[in-house]
Amino acid sequence: MTRYIFIIGGVLSGVGKGTATASIGRILKSYGYKTTAIKIDPYINVDAGTMNPTEHGEVFVTEDGDETDQDIGIYERFLDENIYSDNYMTTGRVYQAVINRERRLEYKGKCVEAIPHISEEVIRRIKRVSQKTKADFILVEIGGTVGEYQNVLYLEAARMMHLENPKNVLFILVSYLPIPEKLGEMKTKPTQQASRLLNEVGIQPDFILCRAKTPLDQIRKRKISVFCNVKEEDVISAPDVDSIYEIPLNFEKEGLGKKILKKFNLRIKKKNLKDWGRLVKTIKTVKKEVKIGIVGKYFMTGEFTLTDSYLSVIEAIKHASWFFERKPIISWIESEKYEKDPKSLKELKNFNGLIVPGGFGSRGTEGKIRAISYARRNKIPFLGLCFGLQLAVVEFARNVANLKGAHSTEINPKTKYPVVDLMPEQLKKIQKAHYGGSMRLGAYPCLIKEKTLAYRAYFNNKKVKEPIVFERHRHRYEVNNQFKEILEKKGLVFSGINPESNLIEIIELKNHPFFLATQFHPEFKSRPLSPHPLFKEFIKIAIKR
Ligand code: GLN
Repeated sequence: MTRYIFIIGGVLSGVGKGTATASIGRILKSYGYKTTAIKIDPYINVDAGTMNPTEHGEVFVTEDGDETDQDIGIYERFLDENIYSDNYMTTGRVYQAVINRERRLEYKGKCVEAIPHISEEVIRRIKRVSQKTKADFILVEIGGTVGEYQNVLYLEAARMMHLENPKNVLFILVSYLPIPEKLGEMKTKPTQQASRLLNEVGIQPDFILCRAKTPLDQIRKRKISVFCNVKEEDVISAPDVDSIYEIPLNFEKEGLGKKILKKFNLRIKKKNLKDWGRLVKTIKTVKKEVKIGIVGKYFMTGEFTLTDSYLSVIEAIKHASWFFERKPIISWIESEKYEKDPKSLKELKNFNGLIVPGGFGSRGTEGKIRAISYARRNKIPFLGLCFGLQLAVVEFARNVANLKGAHSTEINPKTKYPVVDLMPEQLKKIQKAHYGGSMRLGAYPCLIKEKTLAYRAYFNNKKVKEPIVFERHRHRYEVNNQFKEILEKKGLVFSGINPESNLIEIIELKNHPFFLATQFHPEFKSRPLSPHPLFKEFIKIAIKR
């Protein structure tokens, strides 16, 4: 039997609902319960793929090729499990399903309405996850904040699920307690109001997670308890932390996991947060540094910051660095600077390693190409991700294989040497303006060539029968196989190939400590307790520098 825990935000957005959800998930899993999480995004976009990361943060790609919210990535990292497309819902997606059903006459002539039909579709989707995963617990994070017009139908769905089976459903309000500078005192009123707003839609929170700069004192816990109709022990303190990975341990200190189980009349089957504890200890104590530069095209951002746009890359660097007991120092380098002032490329020597991450569009590409060239010639460890691979191929084609003016047709459609190009089916999609969800998405197999850097990273040089890995993609352009032979002759190693389509997945160079790039995004599969092999190898070599 599945139990459902709804996580709802109050007062402010961006206070870490996703991390709270993921942390509760980790705790319940560590108690021996199969746990998964669902993210509901209240916007109309069918998926996150059509949104600018500066507005929305990273587009996280699932194994089955959905373009989702970065919270799904946080769930995967904390739960150490794949989360699939079914666990992601947007208003656009829900309405689309209902409208399609209406067009097929499946409502049998009824008037189709927001309530109950939309809420019912939401419930159907939540229950589908239960059927498919057989999870003991499903955490459902409702995006946005209570009181917003946008998420009211989701709250309605949650209320209906509780009405249907009150013993199976629990509500957690994640609130924020400000400490106004002039007052110097933590204020509970916004939390009281958020709780009231929830009451208005028929929901009584079982727990209130109190996010704040500092821990909550007993006086405030009591106040919230009385005003919000929640037991004092169920008012949970959730102060700011240096690393989000501390949060499950903090919740444990507050006994949150046990209190949740008690409400469902369940007991701890086993307890295993030890490995997580060890990780947190490393995070808090590492001193020796590893300096990584990320060369990209950056921008002034709105609500979301740069780190949000590249969340998985940053986390993957951290996981691998902690594995080697290093503290990662990450610098953002604006590539355009190397176009205006090539002399400044010298500063790249100060890094242990460089990454050129995924990207779209032309601004800053020549600067990135120069940085890649510098890393290649000066033997600085280099890892290219997706666009980073495409530009590494362009750099090699131009500067080593002498194909002057070689480029990706994404940037220069008229190039004489289109070393990176669109596949015919992608071209058709673009011509029809069919942009949403139409890139090459999700996991594809990649056959790793023996005696390469990639093989060493993935298989530790052990002989394996089928050296195939599955990695996640999100791109339209591909290395043009017409140039494979020329580039190979000049020394570019194609160490990973899709065995079905023959598309190029990994490139690398010999006679370089670490020069490797991937068409896929390895960062999506890195987990704190099991860093991605390619990031691990990259950091290992970078440390030696
Ligand atoms: N713009 C490139 C493409 O569409 C790379 C995309 C990416 O880096 N994710 O193929």
